Amino acid sequence: MSSFTVRLTFHGDLAFFLRRKQSIVERRLNERTSVKDIVEACGVPHTEVDLVLVDGQPVDFSQVIGSEAGVEVFSIRSRSVTLFPENQLQVRGVRKFVADVHLGKLVRDLRLLGIDVVYDRDAEDRQLVKTSNAQDRALLTRDRHLLMHAAVRHGYYLRSQNSLEQTVEVLRRFDLASVLTPFTRCLRCNALLESAEKEKIIGQLESLTRIYYDQFRRCPGCGQVYWSGSHFEKLRKRIRKIRDLLQTEA
Ligand SMILES: [Zn+2]
Repeated sequence: MSSFTVRLTFHGDLAFFLRRKQSIVERRLNERTSVKDIVEACGVPHTEVDLVLVDGQPVDFSQVIGSEAGVEVFSIRSRSVTLFPENQLQVRGVRKFVADVHLGKLVRDLRLLGIDVVYDRDAEDRQLVKTSNAQDRALLTRDRHLLMHAAVRHGYYLRSQNSLEQTVEVLRRFDLASVLTPFTRCLRCNALLESAEKEKIIGQLESLTRIYYDQFRRCPGCGQVYWSGSHFEKLRKRIRKIRDLLQTEA
């Protein structure tokens, strides 16, 4: 087979992933290659791609290209994807996540907002991929190669290294702003909190807490008790900050 050239144009913020940050890439190929492999060889994980047009026609990731072609690649935020509602490659409405080992602060923020995030700081890469696939969770990571595993159906590469900005990124990417339920989930283990009677947990409380507070929640997973003490005000401030950021930046 003689070699051929594929010319790719990356739209939206996908240029972020390209080596020279230029939106057009030409690749010389010697064999028939799938769209997924061609796009990922440019550095863009398939989880970031919502629409691919080959010579103007929408295709999916398994489409094989064997001769000269022009390929347009769009992110989930590109306006053009709405022109091809049947051909969008990313699933909408993902509400469950699994996070890479380096993202402890992001995980805490998301759980604080009530979002379901599995996190194990000792998890190996293949465990993350397995959890994502088996439980239909979007994989959150700053390792783009992890997102290139075919078994990862949903995922997101965090652009920022700042946990507050990362939280806002996730809320935007997965349209979570309208489904937040702050203070309903355990920050330590992800279980949903239950209200607890004071008499039943009084042994776990310090003396001042016993005196000043009557409303408590308890985690059925790890036993942690929560109440609206001084730490609560700090957490509320954090939530306010996240909501403000979510509204101000486009
Ligand atoms: Zn817990």
